[in-house]
Amino acid sequence: MARKARITIDWSLWDDHLGKITDKELAKKIGSSLAAVSNRRKLKGIPAAGERGARSSIDWSDWDSMLGTVEDKHLAEKVGCSLASVLLRRRKFGIPAFSKRNGVNWELWDELIPDMSDSELAKKIGCAPGSVRVRREKLGIKKFHLDLRKKVDWSKWESKIGVVKDKDLALMIGCTVGAISAHKKKLGIGVLSEKEKVKRQSMNDGWAKWDHMLGRCPDDVLAEAMGVSRSKVGVRRMRLMIANYPLTWTEGAKPCLGGCGKSLLNSDSTCGAEGCLAKLEEIS
Ligand SMILES: [Zn+2]
Repeated sequence: MARKARITIDWSLWDDHLGKITDKELAKKIGSSLAAVSNRRKLKGIPAAGERGARSSIDWSDWDSMLGTVEDKHLAEKVGCSLASVLLRRRKFGIPAFSKRNGVNWELWDELIPDMSDSELAKKIGCAPGSVRVRREKLGIKKFHLDLRKKVDWSKWESKIGVVKDKDLALMIGCTVGAISAHKKKLGIGVLSEKEKVKRQSMNDGWAKWDHMLGRCPDDVLAEAMGVSRSKVGVRRMRLMIANYPLTWTEGAKPCLGGCGKSLLNSDSTCGAEGCLAKLEEIS
């Protein structure tokens, strides 16, 4: 889960509000995390709003729809109020208590059924996998299978495959580790060397067109051709462990963009060799 950026809270502005409104509301006002407010309140020994007489200050509009869909205890934690507050509120509306066995509010979950395995979804809901299966079969939804998964736009992630750990990448994409392994196999990516990792990482930042030129002319010449700083080229070259251009460069010459290492004094892009023309074709 993304962590809220740490902010420095000037509590002199907010201390008076502690316990008068819920921690959640106060956190929203401050723009801080809920934990920051709860911790401060506890530090000051102030009871949470709703615990003692301040019950009316709970804004239930956010929470009423959750009554009975989770355990009261769980909801009380979320709201930042006492268990009794939730219990009373739930009874006021005649909503039965959530029970793990049969209290699943499927309206909340039905749309997730096609995209998740029964056990995965059951874990999310906090019910038995069997309950999901029964529900799924009742709705006539086929058992979740990798092929039924929402299409992952792999082009977006290509530069991270093999660079970031599969497990972490799966979290980033929101797919299974298996889906990543399958895609890696498709791309023929095994274990990447450090060098290959650097290459993959920068696949989308324009270097693909220029990597073959590194070390084939002086860094400053390449930098000029690319329209970037000389140090950018130097850093890239060193990361890929490519030696510096070994010879002197003719003043004012341009490199053959085929990457053969020849310097050109005319306005051509390549030296004209077949390999260089092919390379230029490939990258343009
Ligand atoms: Zn050439």
